[in-house]
Amino acid sequence: MTTTPTELVVLDMAGTTVRDDGVVETAFRRAAERTGVAADIGWDRALQYVRDTMGQSKVEVFTHLAGGDRDRAEVATAAFEAAYAELIADGGAEPIAGARETIEALRAAGLQVYLTTGFAPVTRDALLDALGWRDLVDGVLSPIDAGRGRPAPDLVLAAALRARVSDVRAVAVAGDTASDVRSGLAAGAGVVAGVLTGAHDEAALRAAGAHRVLASVADLAALLPGVGARASVIA
Ligand SMILES: [Mg+2]
Repeated sequence: MTTTPTELVVLDMAGTTVRDDGVVETAFRRAAERTGVAADIGWDRALQYVRDTMGQSKVEVFTHLAGGDRDRAEVATAAFEAAYAELIADGGAEPIAGARETIEALRAAGLQVYLTTGFAPVTRDALLDALGWRDLVDGVLSPIDAGRGRPAPDLVLAAALRARVSDVRAVAVAGDTASDVRSGLAAGAGVVAGVLTGAHDEAALRAAGAHRVLASVADLAALLPGVGARASVIA
């Protein structure tokens, strides 16, 4: 972990700042049922793959489930987006406790905050609207905005470029999956934290190389070089 003062915080959405509670898995199941995309490998194996790759670009995950058939993957991705939108409309979207306050405190302390996700922009924006978070952060990025999805470094690097950081070590990344951690490390981020409010457990996050594993994103501000108490008072 770096001592370079943090300028930019890149936070994952589902499972990190937004409660998931199985909504993503349910949307995957509905998409699989409606399109037959996982018929060849069976749902049990498909579900394990979905869990292992949580955090990655959804179309990439469906491409694997479809045996490499990109056309079927795109149909399934559209079904996933529709199913996720239905689930948000049914049950709403809830922030992780303390996430909004942490983001507000970080920004009040002069840092920029970007949200990143493996969702397509339409789903991401529906989620932001459901939360009332359109104006909460400095930027939001989906894989299509950056290049490749996680675990590639693109989302973190794209945020770093847009935020005009002085050094990649001034970037802090937090996420609930091994892919978030690998993406942050690949980008050279100075702080890469796993959080235990989502898909993957402490062992998986540590195995991916997380500098720290936190109970939740609400504990992040205190960890950041040059920020610490300045932003953790409110959070
Ligand atoms: Mg996540």
